[in-house]
Amino acid sequence: MTIIDPLRPSSALLQINGVEFPPPSQRRATEKREGAYATALAQFDRAAQILNLDPGLADTLRSCKRELTVNFPVKMDNGEVRRFTGYRVHHNTARGPTKGGIRYAPTVDLDEVRALAMWMTWKCAVVNIPYGGAKGGVVCNPKELSLRELEGLTRRYTTEISSFISPEGDIPAPDMGTNPQIMAWIMDTYSMHRGYSVPAIVTGKPINIGGSAGRFEATGRGIMFTVREAYRTFGWDFDGISVVVQGFGNVGSITAQTAHEMGCRVIAVSDVEGGIYNPKGLDIPRLRRYVREHSTVQGFDGGDRITNAELLELPCDVLVPAATENQITRANADRIKARVVAEGANGPTTPEADEILMANNVLVIPDILCNAGGVIVSYFEWVQSLQQLFWEEDDVTHRLERIMVRSFHDVYEQSIRMNLDLRTSALVLGIGRVAEATQTRGLYP
Ligand code: GLU
Repeated sequence: MTIIDPLRPSSALLQINGVEFPPPSQRRATEKREGAYATALAQFDRAAQILNLDPGLADTLRSCKRELTVNFPVKMDNGEVRRFTGYRVHHNTARGPTKGGIRYAPTVDLDEVRALAMWMTWKCAVVNIPYGGAKGGVVCNPKELSLRELEGLTRRYTTEISSFISPEGDIPAPDMGTNPQIMAWIMDTYSMHRGYSVPAIVTGKPINIGGSAGRFEATGRGIMFTVREAYRTFGWDFDGISVVVQGFGNVGSITAQTAHEMGCRVIAVSDVEGGIYNPKGLDIPRLRRYVREHSTVQGFDGGDRITNAELLELPCDVLVPAATENQITRANADRIKARVVAEGANGPTTPEADEILMANNVLVIPDILCNAGGVIVSYFEWVQSLQQLFWEEDDVTHRLERIMVRSFHDVYEQSIRMNLDLRTSALVLGIGRVAEATQTRGLYP
C-alpha cells in the first residue's frame, strides 16, 4: 500500500490518470514519500496521452535512465562514525548532459529524487537549454551538522558519486539544504581527484572560484520576470500587487526581494517554523538583514505571526510556494484566494489540487517554467566555466529575462492553440521536445 505501482491496481486506491493515490486517511503519513513521484508520473501520463506518444517511447521517457544509491561513513565531531545514504539519478540524456541540484534533507528518498530528476528534464526542455535532467540527495539534516561534518559528508558523497558526474555528462548544482559553499567542496574534491581544477563540474559555485554573477539570485528573479510577463500578457495591472511567499531560503528570499524592487507589496513570508504577515507590506530588505542575523523570520517585529497553513490561504494577488513539494493539496486548494500561483518550489501542487485551482480560476504558472531561472543561469555558469570567459551580471540577468519571457510565451501560446492549462502546456512542450530529440537521434544500436 505504501508503494505506488501503476501495474497493480487496487480498489482501495484512488486513481488519477492511471496513477494511484492512497485514500485521504492514509495520505497524510505517506504523502511525502509517495507524493512527488506519483505527481510526476501522473503529469507525464496526461501529457503523453495528449502527445499521443508511442507506448514504447512513453515508457522509456517515463523511466529514469540511471539510478545510483550510495552508503558511506562520515566521522562525526564526537569521534563516532555515522553511515549516510545518498542518491544521484539521471533521468534522460536525449537533449544533452544531465543537470540538476543536490538536496540535503532528512526526508529525501529515491522516489523523490526520481521525481525531481524527471522534472529537471522537462524544465530544461521547456526553456530550451541543452540538458537532460538529474537530481541528487543525501538523507541528513544539514542544520544538525557542524561545518566540519557537512564538509566531510559532502567530500565523501562527491567521491562516492564521482564516476556518475562529469563536466560533459552530469553537472550538479544547489537545491534545498545545499549552498555555494557545498558546491565549492564538490568542485574541490572532484578537482583533487583529477589533479587540476575542474570548475565546470558543478554550478552555483561561489563567484571567486568561477561561479557566475547573478546565479544566486537567478531562480527568484526568474519567477518574478515570469509573473510580470503573465500580468502584461493578460493586461492586468502589475503595479503594487500583493505577493505572498512560502519559504525564505534562496528562492523565497530572492523572490520577495525582487517583488519588492519591482514595486509589489510583499504582505507575508514564512519559513519552516511559520510566517509573518503585514497587509501594508513587509520591509523586505530589513527582514533579510534580520534573517541573516537570526537564521529565521520568527521574531521579526514588522508583522504579525501566522502559520504556514494560514499563509497559503491569505487573500493576495500572487502566491509563491517556494518551500517544498505537496503544499497545495486537495485539503487546502479550495481555500487558496490568490489570483496567480507562481510555483517557486518543484512540485508544490498535487494533480488533485490543480483541478480545484483550475475550477476556481486560479492561474497556476507551473514549476518547470516558473522556477527555471536557476538552471538557466546554471547553464550560463557552465558555459563560462568551460570557456574561462566571464560575463557581467547585467548580461546574465538580461539573457535570463529574455529566456523566461520567451518560454512563457511558448507555453502560453501553445496553451491557447491546444486549449490546455499552463501546466499541461509546459509538460506537452517539454516532453514533446525530448521525444523529438529521441527520435532524431534514433535507437542505438
Ligand atoms: N535545483 C535547481 C532546480 O531545481 C537548480 C538546478 C541547476 O541549476 O542545475 O531547478
